[in-house]
Amino acid sequence: MALIVQKYGGTSVANLDRIQNVAKRIAKTYDKGHAVVVILSAMAGITDNLIDMAGNISQTPDKRELDVLLATGEQTTSALLAMTLKSMNYPAQSLLGHQAEVLTDQCHGNARILDIRAERIQELLQDRHIVVVAGFQGCDPNGNITTLGRGGSDTSAVAIAAALKADVCEIYTDVDGVYTADPNICPQARKLDAVSYDEMLNMASLGAKVLQIRSVGFAKKYNIPVHVRSSFSEEEGTMVVDENSGMERLVVSGVTHDKNQARITLKKVPDIPGIAAEIFTPVANAGIVVDMIIQNTRAEGQTDLTFTVPRADFKQALEMQTAIAKKIQAEDVFGDEKIAKVSVIGVGMKDHSGVASKMFNALAKESINIMMISTSEIRISCVIEEKYTELAVRVLHSAFGLDKNG
Ligand code: ASP
Ligand code: MG
Repeated sequence: MALIVQKYGGTSVANLDRIQNVAKRIAKTYDKGHAVVVILSAMAGITDNLIDMAGNISQTPDKRELDVLLATGEQTTSALLAMTLKSMNYPAQSLLGHQAEVLTDQCHGNARILDIRAERIQELLQDRHIVVVAGFQGCDPNGNITTLGRGGSDTSAVAIAAALKADVCEIYTDVDGVYTADPNICPQARKLDAVSYDEMLNMASLGAKVLQIRSVGFAKKYNIPVHVRSSFSEEEGTMVVDENSGMERLVVSGVTHDKNQARITLKKVPDIPGIAAEIFTPVANAGIVVDMIIQNTRAEGQTDLTFTVPRADFKQALEMQTAIAKKIQAEDVFGDEKIAKVSVIGVGMKDHSGVASKMFNALAKESINIMMISTSEIRISCVIEEKYTELAVRVLHSAFGLDKNG
């Protein structure tokens, strides 16, 4: 007998028929003798509707009240599911975030979970109840309702699984798992059986559509196996687990791409202490996240410095740098918005050499120029011209043996 946490996303509870379908799935798990805790999202589209409604009242609706409003989406589905289970003669009970004792900080709209006492859940489980918890919501130390940011019910599920020391956290969604690349641009992409926490964190661009990335950090910290799978089929999905749990350690398990990038170059910057700090401090103070940074040394005590920022922040960052360049007497500043970052990710890289050169060769064969390179223990990223993104993903996918027919 296991303790299983199941989370159902918005499309899985989008209407009463689907809630019925979810209830049947839960009943099946319960009938096997398992203890079941269910975490729910709001019905698909509901959170968006609520946000729109609030937006009609004010462009900056009061954050506390917005959370009270948004939490109703999950309150609705939790009640409906518990009701459905009870009508099928299963002992179920719904709990809202505060009743499940999900304690968060006070950051309305993007709160972080501080603690989950989960005593009430434990008691209900002991009485063989199916416990249905409204995801996405918690309460702060003053008892105010908070929400955990878009997609936050994934984090609710993993955090509750951690608090209960559950055997597994199953995330039911409308895709059947995590893929080796975005299937929309790479027809050869296939579903992965398993992926490690760190790979998943690095695959944010692939994985974020399936899992709120913050939930993966939680799963890693408390070593909770997460099973991402479809609520519309019986097929196994993708296990997100510790890399030493016996999963296959692929050298490359995924190829990601990110078009949300822009780069800025400062040319002939004086090569003296303090300059990098001058360049990046204002950027950081403006809350702009810098991803890659490259500095080349020229002769004559000068360097060129290039870095990337999210495309939405490009204009602001470029204006800042134009002013800074004058101040530090750099020769020129220019930027480029038509770039993309492609990355190969895999834990197996730790014990393999030649991965970078294989990547560079595969891109070279297609005459794709590499503008910037960065590496970490389990990832190699290249910045290329945006127009080559799709081609780059496909050739890398095939070069690293990931193609389903390969
Ligand atoms: N309903 C919330 C949202 O749409 C939370 C979730 O679905 O995870 O973002
Ligand atoms: Mg989601």
